[in-house]
Amino acid sequence: MSPKIKFQTPTGMKDLLPEDLEFYQRVFEVVDDFAQLFGFNKIQTPIVEDVQLFEKGTGGSTDIVEKQMYILKTKGGEYLALRPEFTPAFARAYFEHGMVNWPHPVKLYTFGPLFRYERPQAGRLRQFYQFNFEIFGSKKPISDVEIIYLFWEILKELGLKNLIVHINSIGDKQCRPYYKKSLVRYLRSRERDLCPDCKRRLKTNPLRVLDCKQEKCRTVIAQAPQMLDYLCGECKQHLERVLEYLDALEIPYFLNPYLVRGLDYYTKTVFEIMPDNVPNPTALAGGGRYDDLLKLIGKRDVPATGAAAGIERIIALMKEQNVFKPSKKKIDVFVAQLGDKAKVKTLKILKDLKKAKIYPAFSLSKDSLGDQLKIADKLGAPFVIILGEEEVLKGKALVRNMKTGVQKEVKFEKLGQEIKKLLKKKK
Ligand code: AMP
Repeated sequence: MSPKIKFQTPTGMKDLLPEDLEFYQRVFEVVDDFAQLFGFNKIQTPIVEDVQLFEKGTGGSTDIVEKQMYILKTKGGEYLALRPEFTPAFARAYFEHGMVNWPHPVKLYTFGPLFRYERPQAGRLRQFYQFNFEIFGSKKPISDVEIIYLFWEILKELGLKNLIVHINSIGDKQCRPYYKKSLVRYLRSRERDLCPDCKRRLKTNPLRVLDCKQEKCRTVIAQAPQMLDYLCGECKQHLERVLEYLDALEIPYFLNPYLVRGLDYYTKTVFEIMPDNVPNPTALAGGGRYDDLLKLIGKRDVPATGAAAGIERIIALMKEQNVFKPSKKKIDVFVAQLGDKAKVKTLKILKDLKKAKIYPAFSLSKDSLGDQLKIADKLGAPFVIILGEEEVLKGKALVRNMKTGVQKEVKFEKLGQEIKKLLKKKK
């Protein structure tokens, strides 16, 4: 009978077991490879930051800041938040470490856990992992496309199929106020048909209404004025260039006039990458340009563009599309020992085996050879190194072929080479 479980993972948070971690590892490997290829440098920021960084950098009227931050008060009386996103922390680090003086654009990336107090539901965790790429110091449309292309290529390299980029422009300080006015006028005329959250958003952050997933709000949104009709010359030209580049790179996209992002700091390009042709798709990745963010944090105008992808959603799709099989860990050799001296020797020969790039298994808590051979068999070890007190004294061990039962004596210092030779022959 299993004991009654007293403690469990907090709601919306998961343990990552060895098989899960093989998926994460695969994503991290591909991300690192592409970061190198595209010339991005990795940074790591603390998991907690000053609450005000997010209040300023993410925006006071966003769900993230209004409802989703985990805030803690330290013994020293500071208020820190578990990071709900990376971008404000990148902007802080950029100024704090004098990256303003680095050659520009400054290209940074990271991956790690984020925390948002979400309503528990499918695809939304309270602790989830993202990878995040940012380019600081370029106004050019090609930099937006560099980010989109990079995310597109990472997802393709992971084997994901049937994806599409949703793209829009949400204008800038020049043109967005005109659009906002017209949107508010329209939404007020339909206020009765909006959900309670959107009624509130209409007052605090009307663009966010466009983000609402509720059926009744979607009907209202479908007839709302579109930002595309209000773009100023510069924003319009920017969007046209981005779309031309996407065409040239043959990236499939859908110009979605109602795409906005949940965060306040976006300007011009916004995009999301999601599965195509499925009902109610959720975004795997999202981002865009945020030329006004760095000024809020560092009092200096630095144009910026970037994006983040949710690793759990990517892994869920990798599983659904069956594009990655975690490899069963293969063992080259099992080391079986008899007696205390042999146990110590087992630990000592590990380094030699590592040098020869041989992956062993062993079980020091077992004393009987029979038990150890059973484990070796279960693990599928093709060879077993056997050492008892006598072998330790002689400086030699027995190497047994598990299939044929043939065994021979090998000097300890030759074990690595010998196993390597045997493994080669076996192939
Ligand atoms: P955001 O930082 O909100 O722009 O989200 C970027 C990506 O992170 C999304 O497209 C999702 O893939 C992922 N994501 C955001 N929030 C969550 C969450 N609560 N749980 C899991 N993944 C998330």
